[in-house]
Amino acid sequence: MTADTSPTSSTSSTSLIVCPHCHTTNRLDIGDVANATCGRCQQPMHSSKPVALDGASLNKHISRSAMPVLVDFWAPWCGPCRTMAPQFEAAAVDLAGEVLLAKVDTEAHQDVGARFNIRSIPTLALFKDGREVARTSGAMSRADLVKWARGQT
Ligand SMILES: [Zn+2]
Repeated sequence: MTADTSPTSSTSSTSLIVCPHCHTTNRLDIGDVANATCGRCQQPMHSSKPVALDGASLNKHISRSAMPVLVDFWAPWCGPCRTMAPQFEAAAVDLAGEVLLAKVDTEAHQDVGARFNIRSIPTLALFKDGREVARTSGAMSRADLVKWARGQT
């Protein structure tokens, strides 16, 4: 399937990972995500910052990427969302290469909020292997976010 001849990859297999920067699908060893760069945009294949997604890019990440995606459904007018934002950013540093942290503005993308049946914000949803595996509502601290995400993957 691939021309990978790396002698170090014998115990693992390649996966499809969607680039957090340009949303191009790359094939690589999931263990190499921390060191790999995107074949298209040349940026790292992991992100230590939350990435803003819309409906199309969110779809691509949750349906095509082997990397779990933790989505913060938020809105600019939501006080608890703004309070949680720095905590979410800090958690993205802790989870870089393990889980991609993403933000969806449910005011700018109301169709996405409706599609995922977001009733209150902030809502955090974790997607893995093409499906939603966990969801919680309400602001969380950095430590709780990391613990919650790791507990589901
Ligand atoms: Zn890229």
